[in-house]
Amino acid sequence: MDQKKCYMCMSLQPIENFHKNIKRKNGLQNWCKECRNKHRITRRKEINTRVRERYNPEKEKQRSMNRRAKNPQRVWASKAIAGHKRRKKPCLFTINDLITIIPKNNTCVLCKKIFKWNCNDHDLAAPSLDQIDCAQALILDNAQIICKQCNGGKSTDTQLGYILNCRDVWEKHRDTRRDQTGRA
Ligand SMILES: [Zn+2]
Ligand SMILES: [Zn+2]
Repeated sequence: MDQKKCYMCMSLQPIENFHKNIKRKNGLQNWCKECRNKHRITRRKEINTRVRERYNPEKEKQRSMNRRAKNPQRVWASKAIAGHKRRKKPCLFTINDLITIIPKNNTCVLCKKIFKWNCNDHDLAAPSLDQIDCAQALILDNAQIICKQCNGGKSTDTQLGYILNCRDVWEKHRDTRRDQTGRA
C-alpha cells in the first residue's frame, strides 16, 4: 500500500502525505496533511472569532466584582501570590495555605488595625502579604499578613527593627504629640 485516499478531498495520495495515527488500523490519519492543516487553521479562526464575540469588558468587570464580593479573602490571596511571583519572590505555598494564616480577628499582626478587604490596594488598611525575614525563603512560616501601612514602614527591616523604629519616632516627637493629640 503506497497510496491512500484522503476522505476529505477524496484524492489518492502517497502515504507520506498522511500523518501517523497509532489508534487507526492502518496507522494513518483519514485526511491528508494538507486537508488537516487547512481544517486546523479554519477551526482556530472560528474559535478566535467566537472568543472575541463573547468577550465583553463590562460583563468581565461585573464578574470580577462579584467574585471579589463573594470571597474577598480568596481574591486577595490569589492576587498577593501573583504579585510576589511578578516581583520574583515566589511564594512556596498555595492560595489555600495563605488563607489559613489570615488573622482570625481580622486585624494587622503589627498595629492591630482592622483590615479592609474590598478596598483600593493603596488603602493603608488594605491587607498585604509580608515576608517576615527577608533573608529567608518565602515559606508559610515566614509569611504574615499586615496592613499596607505597616508593610510600607517595615519594608526590608526585621520585625523588631520596625517596632523599635516606631518607638523612636514616637519618642522623638513629644512636642508634635503634645500639640496635636494632647497625649504626652
Ligand atoms: Zn486531502
Ligand atoms: Zn498595621
